[in-house]
Amino acid sequence: MLTSAEIRQQFLDFFASKGHAIVPSAPIVVKNDPTLLFTNAGMNQFKDFFLGNKLSASSRVADTQKCLRVSGKHNDLEEVGVDTYHHTMFEMLGNWSFGDYFKKEAIEWSWELLTKVYQIPVDRIYVTVFEGDEKENLPKDEEAFGEWKKWIAEDRILMGNKKDNFWEMGDTGPCGPCTEIHVDCRTDEERGSTDGKTLVNNDHPQVIEIWNNVFIQFNRMKDGSLQPLPAKHVDTGMGLERLVRVLQGKSSNYDTDVFSGTIAATEKITHQKYGYSDSRSDIAFRVIADHIRAIGFTIADGQLPSNTGAGYVIRRILRRAVRYYYSYLDYKQPLLFQLMPVLAKQFEHVFSELQQQIDFVSKVVREEEDAFLRTLDKGLKKIDDIIQGANAANNTTIQGSAAFELYDTYGFPIDLTRLIARENNLQVDESGFEKEMQQQKDRSRAATAVDTEDWVVLNETGLMSFVGYDSLEIESRVM
Ligand code: ATP
Ligand code: MG
Ligand code: MG
Ligand code: MG
Repeated sequence: MLTSAEIRQQFLDFFASKGHAIVPSAPIVVKNDPTLLFTNAGMNQFKDFFLGNKLSASSRVADTQKCLRVSGKHNDLEEVGVDTYHHTMFEMLGNWSFGDYFKKEAIEWSWELLTKVYQIPVDRIYVTVFEGDEKENLPKDEEAFGEWKKWIAEDRILMGNKKDNFWEMGDTGPCGPCTEIHVDCRTDEERGSTDGKTLVNNDHPQVIEIWNNVFIQFNRMKDGSLQPLPAKHVDTGMGLERLVRVLQGKSSNYDTDVFSGTIAATEKITHQKYGYSDSRSDIAFRVIADHIRAIGFTIADGQLPSNTGAGYVIRRILRRAVRYYYSYLDYKQPLLFQLMPVLAKQFEHVFSELQQQIDFVSKVVREEEDAFLRTLDKGLKKIDDIIQGANAANNTTIQGSAAFELYDTYGFPIDLTRLIARENNLQVDESGFEKEMQQQKDRSRAATAVDTEDWVVLNETGLMSFVGYDSLEIESRVM
């Protein structure tokens, strides 16, 4: 069985053999872009090449990119640990063509890599192609369809809609269709006679998307029309953890060697067992194994936990992990910092920045855990009272003011309150909470940061037009 390290290396070697320069991952923390807090896709670091602002030294590059999807346009946080293939932090393997090769080579190489190098059985693969959208004046991707037909049976090429199979950065600018590759990982028994086709893009836990190939070929103008781009680009992204799960024949990303080391360490420290089920303790194991990666790699890349902006994103991931071990693994002392060396060692030769700063990162994490553990018990009692009060009053909602008190006095991020509420079949009055937050913000005026779409469009006057707004990210309060 190939290890995850070998699988990553084979990807890079394959694209090197096709003339790609192998480049390092950009930091997961984005420091110089007002529109993005964290790298959420491999292409982020190359956006100036797509926009034509800069020229790449090499027209073909490939890498593995540390990504984080917990805010803004891509927010997978609520899936993490509940499903087995969405992570907060993950590695996106990618290959790019900047005005060089296009659909023919991209599709051929995807196929060659998956079926020849990695030897994924052909009858497990489905691909999707953009079906077109008349209302939006977008053509069907006949070209990608034609290229796929050279390799795969026509009935395994599925038509996809704009949501899944068309990429655009905003209302205007570079855009184009994409083709995605999905793998049916069900066992023969599970498969029976049911075709995997209807399960593609349908949240089936064993029929999962692994690779997206985006073909940037149009420029969307202000009036909505599409102009062909003079230089066409390829932008691909494949989730390493999902690929490893497929190649290691596992039914969950957490059963691969990407996560097994930290899960085993968690078992040892907490004296609990990971049981491969949907029980809360198993979800806790998965959440912890996931979240320590997000926490460790962002801190190593220079983002300390704090009460504002990107720092608060890290703090709320960390607090979420703490609550999981505290409540469901019955572990009441700092745990995450003990796992950090295991993680650092595992990634020593891929992302060495964590190992290089391991003492510092562990110390920061430990202090964060200590601080939250000081108020957590009282906070959990408080929310228990609130929940019982709501139940007694036949109320299905936690008031905004109560959520705010949990935040303000006990350090509960809103998503933690929401999570606990949901576990008790309650909702949170989020707009009430927002109102309280706003009032507080009005009281203390500090710096703000905004996380929006993949990037921001500069309009004609040079002002930024923000296309999205995640108010949870503009915390400006100092506790
Ligand atoms: P999904 O539909 O599963 O949420 P996506 O369409 O949002 O994935 P893309 O933006 O196309 O994902 O990213 C390219 C690839 O990155 C995906 O095909 C998948 O393999 C991987 N990926 C995306 N999101 C995650 C995540 N949260 N955790 C792990 N891998 C991911
Ligand atoms: Mg997604
Ligand atoms: Mg998708
Ligand atoms: Mg996709």
